[in-house]
Amino acid sequence: MAGDETIQATSGTDSFGSCCEDLEEAMSGSEFDPLITVGSNGVLYMSVGQIELEDGEPGLVDHPMFFCPFCGTELQTVEEVHAKTGGNNGADNGA
Ligand SMILES: [Zn+2]
Repeated sequence: MAGDETIQATSGTDSFGSCCEDLEEAMSGSEFDPLITVGSNGVLYMSVGQIELEDGEPGLVDHPMFFCPFCGTELQTVEEVHAKTGGNNGADNGA
């Protein structure tokens, strides 16, 4: 019964994907373009849809991902995302 799994706290870590293999694979996908990525601001984003940009190019709509969709681990908090993005929720609303 040596359940020595270590659940890491998400205190300012940018090593997302450590909660489970599924997320790790989804982020590192070598056979596909991952839709879950870490932004330059250290916020973990997932692409939730496609949008047509002004120049007609297709773009991806990203939204901060707070919980792992595979195992349910909290990856980052709203407060953390706010701090990293400077107040907004980091959603790409085309402001
Ligand atoms: Zn997970």
